[in-house]
Amino acid sequence: MVDTLAFPIEKTTQSRLSQVDFTNLGFGKYYSDHMFIVEYAEGKWHSPRIIPYGDLSLSPATSALHYGQAVFEGLKAYKNAEGEVLIFRPDANAQRLNASAERLAMPALPEDIFINGLQQLLTLDKDWVPAAAGHSLYIRPFMFATDAYTGVRPSETYYFIIFTCPVGVYYNKPVRVKVETEFTRAAKGGTGAAKAAGNYAASLLPATLAQKAGYDQLLWTDAKTHEYFEESGTMNVMFVIDGKLITPATSDSILKGITRDSVLKVAQKLGIPTEERAVSVKEVIDAAKNGTLQEAFGVGTAATIAPIAVIGHEGTDYTLPAVENRTIAPRIQTALDDIKTGKAADPFGWILKV
Ligand SMILES: *Cc1c(COP(=O)(O)O)cnc(C)c1O
Repeated sequence: MVDTLAFPIEKTTQSRLSQVDFTNLGFGKYYSDHMFIVEYAEGKWHSPRIIPYGDLSLSPATSALHYGQAVFEGLKAYKNAEGEVLIFRPDANAQRLNASAERLAMPALPEDIFINGLQQLLTLDKDWVPAAAGHSLYIRPFMFATDAYTGVRPSETYYFIIFTCPVGVYYNKPVRVKVETEFTRAAKGGTGAAKAAGNYAASLLPATLAQKAGYDQLLWTDAKTHEYFEESGTMNVMFVIDGKLITPATSDSILKGITRDSVLKVAQKLGIPTEERAVSVKEVIDAAKNGTLQEAFGVGTAATIAPIAVIGHEGTDYTLPAVENRTIAPRIQTALDDIKTGKAADPFGWILKV
């Protein structure tokens, strides 16, 4: 892989950094100056390079646009007090990208191309990593099929690209979620465990209908019985019942969230009992009724922890204890944030320093 470790870097002649309002970053409003690209053809990855962020030129027949061979990742980098850039668990994202790619009959990307491309990109664009508390650099790696060919078959050519966006505090307004029992996000044997673009497309209509009914997002249930929880919106989901942190065990219809894994490990370190198992809708609704449901929240890279305020089930809204009175999620969030930003030691070996 030596030829991928040193590659050409074309620097922008006009940095857009001075146009960025770092006090009002939003989420995905600004794109950093550069992007990393590597192409796949004839059975191998070639031509890795960093170039100025900008539009791509593609054939209208580009197969990803028709048949959906497209997978992506999402992770974040932070600045520590010394101004150094820390990337959170990029190796886990590189591995998951390949697990997703395999399910969609796409080629694996050697992990060193992912990590080295990302390291060099962030070295170049380190001034785009915000330093303010709660701010971060969102990193979007993705792979898609580029054959200009209208027949249905696995593409023979692909792009892998990484671009980044400085992002502000993700405002964790507690959400109202509806238990979805008609539509399905993912079924056994399907693509639910892959971070596939098409999974998101299929979730948009059910999510829009839930919003019209007054909810922020959905609590997805299993495709077969709709009796067991799977995920919340585009995040994994966790419940605190009687002091125990409970989350659905992963399966081929549940995405293996890196935040989910990190929250479980931090909780265990904090001495909070955790359980990964089937979680029935009935168990959670019963707990809401008898007052033992203390917390519920989504977990994912964008928000880390997104508290759930209300669960709507079969026409009844169950209101959870006020967010101000919750203790488990905030403890875990603080512990995790401290590791990500270098304020606390990293006992898990999660941080890659640029
Ligand atoms: C990305 C994603 C998650 C969260 O994964 P993280 O690695 O924690 O960001 C959960 N569910 C789905 C469907 C996702 O696409």
